[in-house]
Amino acid sequence: MSTRTAVITGASSGIGAATARRLAAEGYRVVLTARRADLIEALAKELPGARAHALDVTDRAAVEAFAATLDRVDVLINNAGGAHGADPVATADPADWRTMYEVNVLGVLHMTQALLPALTASGDGTVLILSSTAALGTYEGGSGYAAAKHGAHAVAETLRLELCGQPVRVIEIAPGMVRTDEFALTRFRGDRAKADAVYAGVAEPLTAEDVADTIGWAVTRPPHVNVDLLVVRPRAQASNYKVHREA
Ligand code: NDP
Repeated sequence: MSTRTAVITGASSGIGAATARRLAAEGYRVVLTARRADLIEALAKELPGARAHALDVTDRAAVEAFAATLDRVDVLINNAGGAHGADPVATADPADWRTMYEVNVLGVLHMTQALLPALTASGDGTVLILSSTAALGTYEGGSGYAAAKHGAHAVAETLRLELCGQPVRVIEIAPGMVRTDEFALTRFRGDRAKADAVYAGVAEPLTAEDVADTIGWAVTRPPHVNVDLLVVRPRAQASNYKVHREA
């Protein structure tokens, strides 16, 4: 028997990289994907049996070519994603919305469609979608990201219904505020002050490792246990709106 295999998208940083480490520690052979080949190759060297494959999840042909290289897939972690801009609906750039929809929704679709035959053939497959609390509610300036993550949430719910009776679980993890190195910087186009302001005064935002721990737990439940939707936030954040900040 070959080793159980987990494919992780967006494994070059933040939650994806932490999840790769966590699943490798759980005994999975991890396949790391992201656009930045140098970062995933460096991480793959640290993890026994791991391999890296540079991949843009919005590129359908590349996703299909990648899928053809895999002999076994037990777990797919759809983590690649992110926010671009925090503008109001009135002035938001449609290009930002398109980018967010492409990666957060169509990226999930491409990867899931390409790997579903192998996940089903494994006899105990798991598709995990990393959405967000922005998938379940919105906030001023969050419309484009919330729209995209609501889309990812709809994919998770629909897929679970459609696969009922087949040996594939569909898990959605929806984190609140997670302090990763790049998420807010990407959202604010490299503006460090704006990125830091997101976390200002919050004693302990979640870390990438906290979310990876949640993912690791959900994925390693017995096969008949499907964690449908798990919302995880820092204690200091009671809702998208209510965040305790120390002066
Ligand atoms: P990062 O910005 O660190 O990670 C995003 C990852 O996605 C990177 O590894 C990036 O790799 C990859 N990525 C982006 N676009 C593409 C693409 N087109 N094809 C392939 N990979 C891509 O942020 P986080 O780790 O914080 O976020 C990870 C996930 O968690 C995202 O889906 C995010 O929306 C979600 N999330 C984050 C929260 C937070 O507060 N940080 C809260 C809730 C959810 P590369 O650039 O190398 O391709």
